[in-house]
Amino acid sequence: MRLTPFSTLSLLSIAVGLSLASTAQAARPPAPDLSNNEFQQCLDGLKNSSKFRGVDSFTFNNYRPSQPDPSVIQSLNYQPEFQKDVWDYLSSLVDTERVEDGIRAKRQWADTLRRIESRYGVKAEHVLGVWGVESNFGQTLGKKPLFESLATLSCFDRRQSYFQGEYANALKIVQNGDIAPSDMTGSWAGAFGQTQFMPSTFLELAVDFDGDGRRDLVNSVPDALASTANFLDKRGYRSGEPWGYEVKLPSGFWGASNRKDKKSISHWRNQGLTLANGSPLPSDLNSAGLLLPAGPDGPAFLVGKNFDTFYSYNASESYALAIAHLSDLITREDSSKTDFITAWPTDDPGIGRQESRAIQQALLNAGYDIGEVDGIIGDNTRTAIQQYQSSHGIFPADGRAGQKFYRAIIGSAAATGNQYGQPANSRPLNPAPADRMGQLIQQQTSPKSTSNTYSVQPSTSSSSNTRYRRVTSPDGTVKLVRVDEGS
Ligand code: CA
Repeated sequence: MRLTPFSTLSLLSIAVGLSLASTAQAARPPAPDLSNNEFQQCLDGLKNSSKFRGVDSFTFNNYRPSQPDPSVIQSLNYQPEFQKDVWDYLSSLVDTERVEDGIRAKRQWADTLRRIESRYGVKAEHVLGVWGVESNFGQTLGKKPLFESLATLSCFDRRQSYFQGEYANALKIVQNGDIAPSDMTGSWAGAFGQTQFMPSTFLELAVDFDGDGRRDLVNSVPDALASTANFLDKRGYRSGEPWGYEVKLPSGFWGASNRKDKKSISHWRNQGLTLANGSPLPSDLNSAGLLLPAGPDGPAFLVGKNFDTFYSYNASESYALAIAHLSDLITREDSSKTDFITAWPTDDPGIGRQESRAIQQALLNAGYDIGEVDGIIGDNTRTAIQQYQSSHGIFPADGRAGQKFYRAIIGSAAATGNQYGQPANSRPLNPAPADRMGQLIQQQTSPKSTSNTYSVQPSTSSSSNTRYRRVTSPDGTVKLVRVDEGS
C-alpha cells in the first residue's frame, strides 16, 4: 500500500487528460542543494522526539544516514511532463506479458494461494492481481535505500510529519527483526517489498505465513501474498463476490460515473444495463456503482465493494481497474486478448511493454537518448518520440507511444532493412499511419484522476468513426482489427 502521491506507480500514471506535449518543458526540478548540517541537526531532534519513542538509540544511530538524498526531494516535487490517457495507463499495466506471468505464478503458488484463500477468504486471482500490478510479481521492488529516503523526507520540504512517522516505523521493522537492513530498499517514498507496503501499513497488516517467525515481505512470497490478502480483508473485502464486471449501457443512457453511489443489481437491470456481452447481470454482487473511466463511449463497469478494496491500496480508480482486469485475465488463463469488450474511444489504442521496448530500441538505434530500454514510456522516451515525430513529419508531435506510432517506427525500420530503426534525419515516414493523430481523444476525462465523478457529456468526437481493437497473437505480433461503429 502506498499513498498515491508517493508511489512509484503514480509516477507512471494516471494524469488522465489532454496531451499538451508541445508545450512541455522539463518538469523535473533540479535536485536541491540540501544542507547536511541542517539534516544532522534535524536527525538529532527526531531521535529525541515522541514519534521515535519506540526506536532504541542503537537502531537509530546504526542506520542514521550520513548525508541527505536530494533526489527524493526532486521526486517529491516531480510533476509529470506528459499526461497519460487511461487506455495507455491500462495497456502498459495489463499486457500479455503480465497476464502470462500471472498465470505462471498462479500455478507455481497454487498451494499457498489455496491456503490463503481459506484463511482470509480472498480469491487467489485478486491477490495475484495486486501482486502483479504492485511489484510485477516480485520482480520490481525499488532500489532506493529506505532510511536515506525517509530521513531526508522527514527533514526537508513538504509532509515532514508524515514521513517522520514512516521513518520511525521503518526503523521499528528492522529492530523487530522482520526484515534484514540490507533489504530495506524501495520506492523513493518508502514503499517496499513485494506488496509495496509503506512501513506503517507493514506494522499494521503484514503477516508471517511461512511460519519462520518473521514477516518478510521482501523475500517470502507466502508472507507477501498473505499480507496482501490480509490487507484486502481488513479493508472490507467480501468473500465470494466478484470485483464487478464490464457492462453494456443501453443506448441513450445518461448517467454519471460514480463508483461510490452503490445501487442494487436489480436497479441496474431496470436501467437496461447488461453484461458487456449482452447477457443479463448476474446476482452475485450485493450492490454496485457505475464506473466510466473514459466517459459513456468507452468501456463501462459496475463495481462492488471488492473493487473498493483494490482502490484502497493506491487511491486511484485506474489503478484499481488494472488490478481487477488483470485478475480476470489470470482467472480466464487467456493472455491473447487483453482488451475490454467495448473499445476505448480512440482510434489509436495503447501498447504493452513489449511494443514499448521495441519503440525504445528503435529510438535508441536511431540515435535518440532514451536511457535504458525498460518498456516504461517515461519523460525521456516521450521527449525522444516527440523529436522523432517532429523530424519525420508525424503530426501532432505529442510524444505519445500508441499503436500508430508503434507501426510507424517499426514499419519504417522494416522498410529500411534495419532491425528496428533508422537515422533520425532520414526521409519522413509514410504519413498514412499517423494521418489522424491530430484528431485523437476528443472524449477526455478529468485530469483529477482520483476524483470519483466524471461529468458525462455527449460525444462530439469525429474521430470515433473508425475504431480498432488490438489483437495480440501468441507470437507477440500485434494487429489492429477494425471494429464497426456502435459495436
Ligand atoms: Ca515469514
